[in-house]
Amino acid sequence: MCTALGEHCSSTGLIFAMHQIQVFSLVRHAADSPFFSKYLRELAEKQWLIASATSEVGTGGDIRSSIAAVESQGETFRLKKRCSAVSYGKQADAILVTARRGPEAAPGEQVMALVTKDDYQLGDWGTWDTLGMRGTCSPAVTITAEGRCEQIVAEPFRLVASQTMVPYSHILWSATWLGIAHGAVATAQSFIRESAKKDPGKVSVSSTRLADIVSKLEVMSAAVKQAAQEYSDLLQQPGNQSLPAGISYLMRMNALKLSCSQLVCEICLGCMDLCGLTGYSNTSKYALGRYVRDALSAPLMIGNDRLRATNAALLLATGPARP
Ligand SMILES: Cc1cc2nc3c(=O)[nH]c(=O)nc-3n(C[C@H](O)[C@H](O)[C@H](O)COP(=O)(O)OP(=O)(O)OC[C@H]3O[C@@H](n4cnc5c(N)ncnc54)[C@H](O)[C@@H]3O)c2cc1C
Repeated sequence: MCTALGEHCSSTGLIFAMHQIQVFSLVRHAADSPFFSKYLRELAEKQWLIASATSEVGTGGDIRSSIAAVESQGETFRLKKRCSAVSYGKQADAILVTARRGPEAAPGEQVMALVTKDDYQLGDWGTWDTLGMRGTCSPAVTITAEGRCEQIVAEPFRLVASQTMVPYSHILWSATWLGIAHGAVATAQSFIRESAKKDPGKVSVSSTRLADIVSKLEVMSAAVKQAAQEYSDLLQQPGNQSLPAGISYLMRMNALKLSCSQLVCEICLGCMDLCGLTGYSNTSKYALGRYVRDALSAPLMIGNDRLRATNAALLLATGPARP
């Protein structure tokens, strides 16, 4: 679904992906609690939308570290977090926010709290005037929230992140980027087909380049499908509650994000090269600008250098990678 949506509107695909990631994290890690079980039932009935606030001013894309802390008092808590980006924050019915477990906790000792529209105020609105992914409406914002302690997921965020949020995000984001790549390639292919009609029987340089681009698209598509299938298979296994936290799995999921975020850029830019000015023009029916601009957000969504640094450190700890 992310791929199908992403092909026609990258922002829609990404919003759908982000909402699914939040819902699935709650389903897998909080559904046992009476509060979350009731909440999830109502969410499905009323089609509520959940946004995510993992990034923070001061920690950037390091989702495993927080500055903000939950301050509990009796059965209630308060929380204030300066987020570097919250997509569709204004439109959402609730936000899943990460923060330190308490004011004394270390940066990595995090929990995840669900705050609903009645619980929070959004302030210090930044602007979201970006190169691409404009429809996600993801400005910086400060969340000030109060809620009941039952709204805090009991499992530590470290487990939610490693077992669900990280692999699921990397699979669904990559699936969305695959949609962007499909859209760009389909546009370039139509352009080549029309050009070929003008010079029948001749194989142009452009069409040979298209073959290279399509190979990259196939590699990307295979990687996304394989990762989705593997994760789905792992979920089917009995007693899957503690899966999959292994270092090699985490490395592969990071590698999926790294390679797909680069491939989508290469594919879209390759299509632009291929179509030339016709692709560059915003008024042409073969315009590729939007695909290119949206694709360029992929390496930033959790900076690729951060993932490279993580995988490099894990490689030192585990020895040679054996895919
Ligand atoms: C379209 C879009 C939608 C988003 N939606 C949301 C959302 O809904 N909720 C949310 O919480 N966030 C969201 N984000 C934020 C996103 O997930 C990242 O947290 C954010 O893009 C990282 O910000 P940054 O690049 O400024 O910071 P950083 O992660 O600090 O990166 C800055 C640069 O420094 C490098 N760098 C920094 N630290 C290291 C390190 N230790 N090792 C190696 N390199 C390093 C990075 O690779 C990068 O080049 C969204 C981002 C985009 C693009």
